[in-house]
Formats: sequence, structure tokens, C-alpha cells
Amino acid sequence: MHQVELAGLTVDTRHYIGGERVASAEQFESVSPIDGAVIAHVARGGQAEANAAVAAAQRAFPAWRDLGPTGRGEILHRLADLVEANVEQLAQLETLDNGSLLRSHRRGVMPRVAMNIRFFADWALNELSHPVWQTRGHDNVVSWDPSGVAAIITPWNAPLMLATWRIGPALAAGDTVVLKPAEWTPLSASYFADLCEQAGMPAGVFNVVQGFGAEVGAALVAHPGIARIAFTGSVPTAKAIARAAAENLTPVSFELGGKSPLIVTDDADLDLAVEIAVEQYDNAGQVCLSGTRLLVHKDIAEAFAARFAEKAAQLVQGDPRDEATQIGPQIHRVHIDRVTGFVERAKADGARVVIGGGPNDELGGLYFKPTLLMDAKPGSEILTAEVFGPVLTMQTFSSDEEAVEVANATEYGLAAVVVCGDRERAERLTKNLVAGTIWVNCFFVRDLAAPFGGSKKSGIGREGGVWSFDFYADVKNTVYAPSGWKE
Ligand code: ADP
Repeated sequence: MHQVELAGLTVDTRHYIGGERVASAEQFESVSPIDGAVIAHVARGGQAEANAAVAAAQRAFPAWRDLGPTGRGEILHRLADLVEANVEQLAQLETLDNGSLLRSHRRGVMPRVAMNIRFFADWALNELSHPVWQTRGHDNVVSWDPSGVAAIITPWNAPLMLATWRIGPALAAGDTVVLKPAEWTPLSASYFADLCEQAGMPAGVFNVVQGFGAEVGAALVAHPGIARIAFTGSVPTAKAIARAAAENLTPVSFELGGKSPLIVTDDADLDLAVEIAVEQYDNAGQVCLSGTRLLVHKDIAEAFAARFAEKAAQLVQGDPRDEATQIGPQIHRVHIDRVTGFVERAKADGARVVIGGGPNDELGGLYFKPTLLMDAKPGSEILTAEVFGPVLTMQTFSSDEEAVEVANATEYGLAAVVVCGDRERAERLTKNLVAGTIWVNCFFVRDLAAPFGGSKKSGIGREGGVWSFDFYADVKNTVYAPSGWKE
């Protein structure tokens, strides 16, 4: 019973190590958030599986490195082709496993998965320019050398998209990879391993270990054979990983939580502001980048809130497989209980519910109503902690200086959104906002060439374009003297 038929695919639920499927004595359940059905029993790995996967990736490394960007690029492009040929099945599989909208998976997410692979394969080939400059007649030549085995630990909110955002550049850079998907969404990564094999990727270049909680992940990040650790998840887990990484001085790239502000100035286009604010419910609020704290100028606050409530009330919540659905379920019972807890505590602490305010009792299951809270106490939990559900708060401000001060008043610094009618004013506002990404009069425009990451507790490092290669590669400068050469 190591395979399940889902979404027209045969998905292997074992690890994928050194090109082989490997079982574990124990298994864990993967539950669909759509209806709570157990859809797979997945191998539950630990130390032994982590060791085996790192060893396989180490064995595969020299040959993968020596293939060079051209040889690797051919395989990576075949892999991207296979993803594109399987968009529909991958979309359905991911929706079953994580409950995100099928139409988003079909039209946006899975094509982006292919792009994550293609883009970085091409970048390695064409864009790493090996700059040369001279110092007193000596040539400095910079190269990006493959560094070894990258351990990649990824979250459940956009499983294959966020995994390939790391796997793409790591493989393109010439590293080999051990991926540990989140235990709530283990399936798409497992199927992706089959696609790697079909693309002709040599055994051991890409490995998947499955596991529950800290078990296999902790073993992986503590392994001395790991050259890079890329982690997307929560701050407490990041601290545990950083401690393990310290033992081997393994470089880390962390993409953690957010509590991003969405600032609406008094000269903003109100329709645009409302439209962008409602977008913050995307993926049922399970997006680290969401601008969950609406900061609205006091003079337009009433008009904004009324229009927002009207627009948000039209959102269709339901089965993520329905074309009309705009908000699906939360990922898991444990998660929706957490989200409910945040909202209940905020209400008890004096916050006022403008819309929503709890689970959707009509739909039952894991559906949480899109919620807007006002009048929360400054500094209170709901204004500072990441909820990761469809829960927004609204505060008002009187001056742009105050808006920036409130915007920066959390321990996070992942993103910020500004809706403003004047470019120069927007430039003054954004200058002092602490965030890795700021969107002005837009949301979620993400170019793979742009740096992406978080400030403060939202992360360590930046990825995207050359920043990804700076992380996954060993950057080397070789200095050639002008003399000493035989004619
Ligand atoms: P979330 O993003 O849901 O809050 P976490 O940050 O707790 O999740 O964990 C994200 C991922 O990290 C999961 O795949 C989990 O299995 C893994 N993990 C949990 N603890 C550790 C650890 N100590 N070391 C490495 N990985 C871990």
C-alpha cells in the first residue's frame, strides 16, 4: 500500500532517496482539508532516512556539478516541460491535499512551478556574468561554484510553488537537493520526484524525505553533510534550525512569518484600495505576505470600511474545486482552531467584529469566514502576531509619519502594501518602511529576478535572480596576475 490514485495520478507515498522509493516502518496520514477525508498514508522518516538522503545527494553531487549549466539546463527544461504537461493533474492533487483554489493552481500556481525551474536554469546559463575587473593590472574573476547538498524545508500553503522556488535555483546552481515537504501537504513533492526521474535527472540529485513534526527535518538540518539550509516556516522552528545550523556553521536562508501593513492614504483611489484590501483574503488568508493590518487615513476610514465590508460580503466561500469559489477552507483542524483562538481572544480584549468573526457554521468543516476586526488595543496580540487565516484588522492614522510608525510596530518585516495617489508621497512613505517587498498601488507582483525575503524576524537573506545563486553557490573570486605566464 505504497501508492494512492489521486486526481488521475499514481502518487507514491514513500521517500524518494537516491532514485529509489524507500518505505519507513511508520506512516502518517495526509488529510484533505476539503472534507476531512484521509487521502494517503505517508512514510514517516527520521534520522536514518535523513542520513540516507544526504548520503545519496552527496554521491550524486560531483557528476551534477560537472554537468555544468548547459547539461543541467537541458534536464531542468525537460522537467519544466513535464510540469507543464501535468498542470491539470498537479493542480487537482495540490487542491485535494491543501485546499487552495483549483482554478488558482491551474492558471497561476502550477505554471509558476514550471517557471521556477526554467527561469533559474536559464539564469545560470545566461545571466551569471562572471564579471572581470582589474586591480593594479590583475584580473578579478568571479564564479558561482556549486556548494554541495541543499536541505530545503517547505510549508503547506503553496507546497510545490514554494518548494520549486528553492529547488529551481539550487539545482541550477549545481547543488543536489534533499526536500522535506510539510507534513500537511506531502503529496505534490512526491509526484514531482517522479517527474524529475522522467526528465532524466540522475539518481540522488533530487531526494524527498517525508516526516512528521521535527523528526526528519531536525535530523536533516543537523547533518554535517548539508551545505545549505533553506527553510520557510515559523519563527520558533527557524530558531531551532538556526541552533542546529550553528553547530556546522551551515548557511541558512529563512523565509518566515509576516504581519504586513496595508496603508491607505487620504488621496488614494478608494476603489483600488478596497480591491487590494479584499485580495488579502487570497488563499483563505494563508499567505505569509498578506497585508493583514489595514492602516487607513482617518478622513476616509468610514467610507473605506463601508465599501470594504460590502465587497468582502460578496466573496464566495466554499469547495475550492468550484470555479466560483473565492475562499476555500483552512488547511487543518489544528490550524482553524488556532485562527479561532486569535479572533476569540481579540474579541474578549475589546476588538469589534465588522464582518465574519468565526468559523463558517453553514459550511462546517474547516471554513473560516472572512473577518475584519476594528478597535483592537494598540500592541495587542491580534495586531502583532501572525494569524495566517482570513482575518484582517483595521486601524486609522492621522499623518504619514504615524502610519509608518504603526506599520513598523511589529517584530516582522516581510512585506508592505501602500495605496496612495501621489508618487512622491508614496516614495517618502516607503523609504522608512521596514519590509523586504513593498507593493505600491498593486499586490503580489513577483518577478523571479527581484530580491525576495524578509527583514527583522521575517527572515534571513534574500532569494531571486542573482541573490539565489549567491546563496546556493560558493561565490569565488580568482585573481590572475598580469605576469608569470610563459609565452
Ligand atoms: P508552520 O509553517 O506550519 O508554522 P513550522 O514552522 O512548525 O510550520 O514547520 C515547518 C516545517 O518545518 C515542517 O515541514 C516541519 O516538519 C519542519 N520542522 C519542524 N520542526 C523542525 C526542526 N526542529 N528542524 C527542522 N525542521 C523542522
